[in-house]
Amino acid sequence: MKTAFRTVLLLLLSLYSLTGLAQNMIEGVRIWPSPDNTRVVFDLSDQPDYSYFFLKQPDRLVIDFKNTDNIAELTQLPKDGDRIKRIRTSLSKGKRAVRIVLDLSNQYDEKVFALPPTGPYGNRLVVDLHDRQKTPLVTRKPRLKNRDIVIGIDAGHGGEDPGSISKSGTHEKKITLSIAKRLQRIINAEPGMKAEMIRTGDYYVNLNQRTRLARKKQVDFLVSIHADAFHSPRPRGASVWIANDRRAESELSKWLKNREKNSELLGGGGELIKRTNDDNLAVFIADLTKDKSLEISDRIARNVIAELQKVTRMHKTQPQNASLAVLKSSDIPSMLVETGFISNPYDFKNLMSRTHQEKLAKAMFNGIKKHFYDYPPQDSLIANMRPTKHKISRGESLSVVAQRYNVSVQQLKLANNLKTDVVRVGQTLTIPRVN
Ligand SMILES: [Zn+2]
Repeated sequence: MKTAFRTVLLLLLSLYSLTGLAQNMIEGVRIWPSPDNTRVVFDLSDQPDYSYFFLKQPDRLVIDFKNTDNIAELTQLPKDGDRIKRIRTSLSKGKRAVRIVLDLSNQYDEKVFALPPTGPYGNRLVVDLHDRQKTPLVTRKPRLKNRDIVIGIDAGHGGEDPGSISKSGTHEKKITLSIAKRLQRIINAEPGMKAEMIRTGDYYVNLNQRTRLARKKQVDFLVSIHADAFHSPRPRGASVWIANDRRAESELSKWLKNREKNSELLGGGGELIKRTNDDNLAVFIADLTKDKSLEISDRIARNVIAELQKVTRMHKTQPQNASLAVLKSSDIPSMLVETGFISNPYDFKNLMSRTHQEKLAKAMFNGIKKHFYDYPPQDSLIANMRPTKHKISRGESLSVVAQRYNVSVQQLKLANNLKTDVVRVGQTLTIPRVN
């Protein structure tokens, strides 16, 4: 081609795209229903130029895409059932536009935003429809005596956000949910303990919402389940992470943090866009609470590592420190368990095995349970299920025993008719039940 001709052609081509004559394309629509919102994702060939509005009686959301064609099959969409009755096209405003109508069964609070290409996804327009009855942020119900210890289980990723992807195409979000459900079953079978799932299906819960849910469900401890991935297949084994901003970050911790940031991009914008009703006041953390909760997190992490070591190879045998978003709410004791490397062929095989998943869940459970038997909250059933007798071993004083069972020295003396503080090795004491 002659240079002059080529220049003219290029000029024409860029004019063509500048004037917006190049058509965008709706290539697909995906729906992710979850307990309190439904997400609709439009996959597009280019950045969307859009506007939207609501109509009432019946409730509809109308989205206009400028310079766009639709090639997505709308009749084939899975029925959301509750929030969205139907997605259809309607008469568009302009020749080169597409009008999409979402027939709704109610009025919802919406968030509509575009996401740039990330990972496996291209350009997207995300529509989040949130239920309107807002749950107050901090409604602490008075707790019952002899209550269950509540363990929050957070299956990493979900919905739009697949997490790590194995060579064969398996998504981390599937593995984490499967292990989470096993852990849930084991915990719920244990007297004095109860599990609360942060997500129960294949949908995305943003990180703020995860901790908010944990707080709402008044969890005593939150475990976030993940499966690691690295850019080389070599690293393998499990690791346990707890929140700590004070220590230096390791290479892996930086990598992991980046990946979690990435997953925010994948899953959703919740943190990317300004949220007017995002009340972070609830996250007021006194230093004391923080230290206390870090201490609990560290103790449970060590218990869990000891248990995991029996059933799987460890990548790290000490709790790892990171300022991961899901662990940020340091008023809630929490840990993140990377159950193995999805990027390592041995680990991956294990992670896909039901037997191995069950072993991992059981190990996490044992580690968590041990802590709550060692240090049960006073109002818990477990505090009242503890042994009522204690045999004095070498080096144990009355005050040590008192501390161990959360009773006073005076109460111990009363229960055992002791005149002095002196106890001998081998002596059996009755532990009073104090509430
Ligand atoms: Zn993950």
